[in-house]
Amino acid sequence: MSNIDQSKKRLRIAMQKSGRLTDETESLLRSCGVKFNENRDHLLAHAENMPIDILRVRDDDIPGLVMDHVVDWGIVGQNVLEETAMQRKVDGLPTGYTEVCKLNYGDCRLAIAIPSEQEWTSVRDLEGKKIATTYPHLLRRALQAQGVNFKTVLLTGSVEVAPRAGLADAICDLVCTGATLQANGLREVETIYESQAVIIGRDQELYPEKQAVADKLLTRFKGVMTAKESKYIMMNAPRAKLKEITSLLPGAENPSIIELEGDPERVALHVVSREKLFWETMESLKELGASSILVVPIEKMLD
Ligand code: ATP
Ligand code: ZN
Repeated sequence: MSNIDQSKKRLRIAMQKSGRLTDETESLLRSCGVKFNENRDHLLAHAENMPIDILRVRDDDIPGLVMDHVVDWGIVGQNVLEETAMQRKVDGLPTGYTEVCKLNYGDCRLAIAIPSEQEWTSVRDLEGKKIATTYPHLLRRALQAQGVNFKTVLLTGSVEVAPRAGLADAICDLVCTGATLQANGLREVETIYESQAVIIGRDQELYPEKQAVADKLLTRFKGVMTAKESKYIMMNAPRAKLKEITSLLPGAENPSIIELEGDPERVALHVVSREKLFWETMESLKELGASSILVVPIEKMLD
């Protein structure tokens, strides 16, 4: 098949080669039934069982590859997506894309942090200060909106050591747990952006064959994500308390009620719950007379 035919038919997806999004992206693709070579040293991996090609690159390159129409889909953090889009606008490069789907991983926030011992009242304290960051556009957009003038110190790594090294008064960096900040004697004072991983697509129609692959994959992605959040709950319960018990189950659809041989007072109840079931809820169920409560993970779901 010629290259042109290939590119019409095979959906090309860019993902992070190696980093915080890599494991979850690979496992999501795998749970959607996409089989591909696991060797991360290969730039391009052809799926064996579906017309899909995976391109492994640095996350910073992913938005540009989509906006330049080199790939059809990209999986990237919203922080990198928005920052890159703003930089490309400055550079006069294309910035078009469509958001295909938000993913339920890669959650983090872009936050401002200052040396722990320093006082803080509001972002106005940053007036005239030096702030080290890898995200100059997101930072400027947030602080300009509040009328704060500051100087950017652009660093692509080790941002958290900048204040101690005397390079900056504050930092604006990605935070997940806050442990890195703490370890560097910093405290978080303001969140300026919340991010998660997303699938983006090019701002152009796909060839019909490719669109069909994209649609199929998207349905599977959504199925895997809903399944991850859902639980299959089973228990035995007093027939008289069924209404109260069902009302305690979060996001539960119609339960299946199964007779228990030789016990007319009690039934088995099976239900799919779209939300987490907390220990507190399980304890309340028990107080209502439920017993043998089982909460089981679901692997796949198709509505
Ligand atoms: P690359 O080599 O691909 O450029 P990187 O070092 O820029 O990698 P990573 O640290 O792997 O990037 O982070 C990739 C993305 O993962 C981030 O842009 C962000 O969207 C997301 N992320 C999720 N949790 C965290 C976290 N705790 N800290 C930083 N980023 C996180
Ligand atoms: Zn990066």
